Amino acid sequence: MIRFAESLNETGFRIKQDISYMALDVSHCGVLILSNVAENYRVLYANTAFLSMTGYTEVELAGRIDWYVQGDAGDEPQRKKLRAALSAAQPISIEMRNYRKDGSLRWCELGITPFRNHEGYVSHFIGMLSDITTRKNDEELSSQPSRHASLTGLTDHLGFCDTLDKTILASTFSPGTLYVAAIDIDQHQHASGSMDGHSQNFLVQVAAERLGTCLQTDEILSHDGNGSYAFMLRADSRSDAVMRCQAIQRSLAQAIPLADQHIHLTCAFGLARFPDDSRTARSLLHCAGMALSHARETSRNTILFYFEAMSVRLHEEITLESALRNAMLNSELEVHYQAQVNLQTRQVIGVEALARWNHPELGQIAPDRFIPLAEKNGLIDDIGLWVIEQVCTDMAAWREDGLPVVPVAVNVSAAQFRNPLLGDQIMMLLNVSGCDPSMLTLEITEAVLMDDTNTARATLNQLHHAGIGFSLDDFGTGYSSISYLKRFPFKKVIIDRSFVKDLVDNSDDAAIIKAIISMAHTLGLRVLAEGVETEEQCRFLSHNLCDEMQGFLFSKPVASSAFVELLQAGTTLPPSLLTAKKARRTLLLVDDEVNIVASLKRLLRRDDLHILTAHSGAEGLALLAQHPVDVILSDQRMPGMTGVEFLSIAKTRFPETVRIVLSGYTELQSVTDAVNEGDIYKFLTKPWDDTKLRGHIDEAFQRKELADENHRLTRAVYATNLELAGAIRQLKYQQQHHHHVGSQP
Ligand code: C2E
Ligand code: CA
Ligand code: CA
Repeated sequence: MIRFAESLNETGFRIKQDISYMALDVSHCGVLILSNVAENYRVLYANTAFLSMTGYTEVELAGRIDWYVQGDAGDEPQRKKLRAALSAAQPISIEMRNYRKDGSLRWCELGITPFRNHEGYVSHFIGMLSDITTRKNDEELSSQPSRHASLTGLTDHLGFCDTLDKTILASTFSPGTLYVAAIDIDQHQHASGSMDGHSQNFLVQVAAERLGTCLQTDEILSHDGNGSYAFMLRADSRSDAVMRCQAIQRSLAQAIPLADQHIHLTCAFGLARFPDDSRTARSLLHCAGMALSHARETSRNTILFYFEAMSVRLHEEITLESALRNAMLNSELEVHYQAQVNLQTRQVIGVEALARWNHPELGQIAPDRFIPLAEKNGLIDDIGLWVIEQVCTDMAAWREDGLPVVPVAVNVSAAQFRNPLLGDQIMMLLNVSGCDPSMLTLEITEAVLMDDTNTARATLNQLHHAGIGFSLDDFGTGYSSISYLKRFPFKKVIIDRSFVKDLVDNSDDAAIIKAIISMAHTLGLRVLAEGVETEEQCRFLSHNLCDEMQGFLFSKPVASSAFVELLQAGTTLPPSLLTAKKARRTLLLVDDEVNIVASLKRLLRRDDLHILTAHSGAEGLALLAQHPVDVILSDQRMPGMTGVEFLSIAKTRFPETVRIVLSGYTELQSVTDAVNEGDIYKFLTKPWDDTKLRGHIDEAFQRKELADENHRLTRAVYATNLELAGAIRQLKYQQQHHHHVGSQP
């Protein structure tokens, strides 16, 4: 007997252990009872037949939402109908394929009947499930065009395998000379228009005939309808086999006169070799078929051998896919959180939720691997909603614990926006958990807007109007068209981590980042840079007015408990990571002559400076990467890199530094150029006058401090402007869309 006591009590729905209950449980038909609370279809009851049909235990089903009903992508329309019927509280009966827990695909007939309580409100659904796989298979067999077999007089693939297995057993051939070929024939007519059945039959006969004449008497040919042929081929080598296939291609390519047209046939081949690829006929045919499906992807005339790798790849994907189907049921999925920090206030202002999959055998599988897979097979809908449900649960718990909760950003892929129920489902999850929609942010990519379907647009508008914020993710990697930024009221642009990664060594990336920041600010958008790993990257971003950052430098994505600790501790970004005014003036001295460095240090000892020393340009750059420096004083003549070269690199990477050359030589041209380019602030000569030199250095520091102060003021003005532009932007969008969505709450 199966019963979910808590759920039953909770909803007041009771099934007594009486005769009728017993009857339900011994029925051969699978019976399921779902609750209909806030369209949150939870399984309250499943009888034994249902469990054995689906392969799940009662514990695994308890409380599961309805969308465990998963089929192939091909059955998506059926699933949509099912969801629509549930949400409209309509009865429905559909035939669709479902995955059992073991990953096998079964044909099912599912009938759903709404149950109205005494108030006339649909409180439950009753589901009836029958496994109709046998019937479906029979239908499929009988509907298969046997006419092809009688048409060509050829054996089908089953007969082919029988004969081939016998040939293999008799071993009347030398090793490596037996191949199985799978062929796919396409027809091309010069005139357009469809062909009648009679002409089709004629073509099939001609193709079979031509194939037959290309083969030797002991090479079996078979035909399974739909233009799918297979044959056994004897060849001395792989290249010999390819030549045989090419001969067949030539023969089929000869024009076939038909009425007033000329038809040409093209064909692709997939080949498998005995015994390398397999030792049995069925599996050889399978390998050839797999090679054929790869061949077809290439072009119509491709000939391709089966390689182990093909099957390994497919196999891995299939295994991973069925494992993913169970991952949610087995609680293998988890949500991790990575803090997002404001670069001005240095405080945590948000957090990104990132899905994690802990596979019992394979260990942690990265989302980069399983999310694309889930997008392909439709599981993304379930996984995506699960992530949001988990986020809502966590947020509710944080709020209850009195933590300073920040908005949580969740990634939603373009595939999820094809689900017309996405908006309702997200709102339902927020309602159930009592979470404020403004505490949820969705990170979407341009792909969502590029689809530009009514479904996606309606969902975006619905969620935006409900108060959910949107960020444009992975900016810079796709088309990065400004038009997408204008088309939808994003609040934030996220600079992709690939730009941040090389920002220090790649001046192009640095320039792109600056451009994105100023463009976004002009449009009234905030900018977050992700993947920030080093202090240098952080300083660059902060200096260039980036608003927020996220990355390992501040925190890795961590489990909920660890994120709670971070919130509790009120951890902020250390002030040293921003280009704020430092307590102490820092000077970098660069000279290859040790005594000069020593005497300069002695001279400046009285001035309370923090002095760093280097003996080459390269060393100087390394120090700059590690320490915030205000003023650089560099020799000109040094082995490896001249002072001017060093300072001009320093200028691009650390533009806020004030740079001075101290040289015994006057190579006027390079120095003048450097001064004119703004690489150098001053050019001083050796030997120097102590007092004057100290004066120049002090002046350089004052200049730097003035620039810092200016920058701080600019920032403040910028921040205010940005806030204003953002508000105007949201307002504009609301006015523009008032007519379309005005009726929505
Ligand atoms: P994303 O949205 O670009 O997420 C940021 C990625 O950068 C995360 O990778 C994060 O761990 C990584 N990251 C953060 N800081 C640093 C850093 O300092 N250095 C480096 N090298 N990497 C950093 P993750 O967690 O592997 O996620 C990969 C992608 O998978 C995400 O890229 C997102 O597109 C997708 N994804 C993750 N969770 C979900 C989900 O729940 N739903 C959907 N639809 N997609 C998800
Ligand atoms: Ca993201
Ligand atoms: Ca991203």
